[in-house]
Amino acid sequence: MNRPYTVATLGSHSALQILKGAHDEGFRTLAISNRDTERLYRSFSFIDEVIALGAYSEFMSLMDELERRKVIIVPHGSFVAYLSLDQQKKMTIPYFGNKAVLDWEASRELQREWLSRAGLKLPRQFRSGAEIDRPVIVKLYGAAGGKGYMFIRDAHDFETRAAHLKEAYIIQEYIIGVPLYIHYFYSPLENKLEIMSMDRRYETNVDSLGRIPAAAQEGMDVDPSYVVVGNQPVSLRESMLAEALRMGDDVVRVSKEICGPKGLFGAFCIETIITPDMQYYVMEISARIVAGTNLFIDGSPYSYLNYSEPMSTGRRIARELKNALLTNNLRLVLDDSSVL
Ligand code: ATP
Repeated sequence: MNRPYTVATLGSHSALQILKGAHDEGFRTLAISNRDTERLYRSFSFIDEVIALGAYSEFMSLMDELERRKVIIVPHGSFVAYLSLDQQKKMTIPYFGNKAVLDWEASRELQREWLSRAGLKLPRQFRSGAEIDRPVIVKLYGAAGGKGYMFIRDAHDFETRAAHLKEAYIIQEYIIGVPLYIHYFYSPLENKLEIMSMDRRYETNVDSLGRIPAAAQEGMDVDPSYVVVGNQPVSLRESMLAEALRMGDDVVRVSKEICGPKGLFGAFCIETIITPDMQYYVMEISARIVAGTNLFIDGSPYSYLNYSEPMSTGRRIARELKNALLTNNLRLVLDDSSVL
């Protein structure tokens, strides 16, 4: 069935998953790529059209064209990298999601306030090097994918290696445990939260340090780094699922208090570290589809429980758009700036 709208996104991050899902749910699809990636996106038959830009910064000049094509934009992680918050807010083409969440997501302070209000356990934060009384991780602002993060043993180590840093950073308690990224989808149409899938990131070189015995590492000049190179699927101990769902519920509930009545909806991810006493510490929230969901284009064990058919997060987004159209509720799943 042909739907009156085209689902469009920027050609990177999770665009293939989003557009495949949109195609499977009966939408026309459009990838906005750059010249380097144009051939890639043209090579997939589920992508009906590709617009190739010289640079993503030209994206805003496409607005009239996108309006004419009756496009619904589905944002993903690269939107924050390629477009400013202002540009995203200025768009009036239909946009899946609530843009009020962007400010709360972009600022580490606001994010912390949001997650604490939701009752989630957060790593302790230190205001200065002098306060450090345990191993910490120093996180540069604006670092993407863990690049430039430093593991610091104690206050003395901080003085020698981090105190001179010119960029802004935060000092956070280093949590030793298993990192787990939980992918959720909240449906405003059904008022229901689902766990879609989970992954762990494969990071260089921190994930390979365990392969060298600690004794052999002594004296070697290796510092852990946290640069993401890939993702691995995880299925969680079933006894821990209830808490995972509860954390998602709490985040959505508080979002409705801080980001207007629509709150956070659609895809999001809570990034956690689980300690040996089975506590989830929350590192961060991503208020959109994350790249770890690309592992599950064919669905995950969890999405299978809900759908009994392949259901990626990208397809789940398109399913929500389809259900909204069929019930005349499109506005419920779009940002209020959207002009239909
Ligand atoms: P992205 O924006 O892609 O999610 P990021 O730059 O915001 O990445 P984080 O996800 O915050 O980075 O962290 C990157 C990695 O650093 C994590 O996957 C984890 O391995 C490590 N890390 C972050 N915070 C902590 C912490 N408090 N304790 C232990 N390890 C941590």
